[in-house]
Amino acid sequence: MESVSQQIKSDPRYPEACQSCMNCGVCTAICPAAGYYSYDPRMIMNLVTEGDNAMLTEIMSEDVIWYCGQCMSCKPRCPRGNIPGVVIQILRMVSQRNGLFVRSAMGREQLAVKRSIGHNILETGYCIHPTRVNPAMHPEQGPVWAWMSDNADEVYGRFDSNYNREGPGNMRKINRKSLDELDRIFEVTGCKKLWDTIESESEKRIDGRFTKYD
Ligand code: SF4
Ligand code: SF4
Repeated sequence: MESVSQQIKSDPRYPEACQSCMNCGVCTAICPAAGYYSYDPRMIMNLVTEGDNAMLTEIMSEDVIWYCGQCMSCKPRCPRGNIPGVVIQILRMVSQRNGLFVRSAMGREQLAVKRSIGHNILETGYCIHPTRVNPAMHPEQGPVWAWMSDNADEVYGRFDSNYNREGPGNMRKINRKSLDELDRIFEVTGCKKLWDTIESESEKRIDGRFTKYD
């Protein structure tokens, strides 16, 4: 099996995302996430470039790779044309593929993300859809959300009269043919295989705790 460094460097996004880092730190200086977290894209770019498998395995097992907000502010600022945000995307995928994500709290959240946003896309065609945010499961949304949920046709109908119906318009119902096409895209790109890994790895016992989300 390929080392994690080889897996990272063989990703088709890698040649554009990491061309030649000179460790200048401009990406860290402008990174919004670095202002909030103990997060340093310069350091991550250095580790990836050096290919230290032990250190890469360590950071892919920690929360740090999930701190990036994917804003891509680093992209236009890097003097070498690198894209640290895309390197982070690769690290996240390799972390999931190798079951490392379950070792960190933010990594374990990927199961919930898969089951919510991921399933929403395949079942409705939208990342988030009003019908999928059930007030009973999300009391933090408050009473206004519960009221909107009960009166969704009227409320969302004010934005577009074709809400949740076949045909054109904002928030229209996505037809079966398009949903089948999305399903096929998730299949052939390997996303579904990755989802299976997220499910199976999340069920394993880590540090004496079950990480399964029910
Ligand atoms: S990725 Fe770019 S901005 Fe960041 S340290 Fe490397 S060369 Fe500098
Ligand atoms: S994409 Fe990530 S690493 Fe780049 S600036 Fe935004 S938060 Fe920072």
